Amino acid sequence: MSKNKETKGKETEKEMMVKLSDIDPKFKYEISKLPGAENVLLCFQCGTCTADCPIARFSDFYRPRKLIRMVQLGLKNKLLSNDVIWLCSTCFTCIDHCPQDVGIASIVRALRNLTVEGGTMPVVYKELASNILKTGYTYIISGLRLKKREDQGLPPLPKANLESVAKLFDVTGFSKTLEKERT
Ligand code: SF4
Ligand code: SF4
Repeated sequence: MSKNKETKGKETEKEMMVKLSDIDPKFKYEISKLPGAENVLLCFQCGTCTADCPIARFSDFYRPRKLIRMVQLGLKNKLLSNDVIWLCSTCFTCIDHCPQDVGIASIVRALRNLTVEGGTMPVVYKELASNILKTGYTYIISGLRLKKREDQGLPPLPKANLESVAKLFDVTGFSKTLEKERT
C-alpha cells in the first residue's frame, strides 16, 4: 500500500532515533580499511555531496551526507539494513565535488558489499548477476531485438566467453555469494 509523504516522514523520524545500543564505535574504522573508503573520517558535513547528488534531488530519503554521518556515528545495523544504500547511481558527482576527497560512492559500494557479505542482496542485482553468468550480458536480449538489429544492418553482438565469466565468478568468490543468496 502506498504511503503519503507525511506518513513516510514520520516513519523516517522514528527510524532515525538512535539508541546507545545501535552504536558500533569500531564501525568507522572497519569501513576506513576498505578500498576507496579510507577518507570517511575526513567528512566535515558541509553537505556539498547532497546538494549536487541527482538521486537526492528526487528522493525524500537519500542523502549522501547523512550516510557518511551514520558511518561516523557507527550506526552499522541501521545502514546495512537500509534499502537507501542501493539508490546511489554511482555517477561520481559527489566524488568530483567533495572538498575533503571523501569518496562517497566508494563508501556506498563498501556498505553494499558488507550487506551482501551479510547475506542480503536486492533481487534485481541477483538477476543481473545471473544474467551475466548465463549470457555475458546484464540483460537477456530477446530474439526480437536481435532480429531488429539484423534488419537495421547492425553487426551481431559479440559472444561472451562464458567459460571465462564463470571462472571470474569462481576466483572472486562471487559464485558462492550468489549461491548463498539464492538459498
Ligand atoms: S561533500 Fe564531502 S565533506 Fe561535504 S558532506 Fe559530503 S562527504 Fe562530507
Ligand atoms: S555517486 Fe551516488 S551519492 Fe554520489 S552524487 Fe552520484 S548518486 Fe549521489
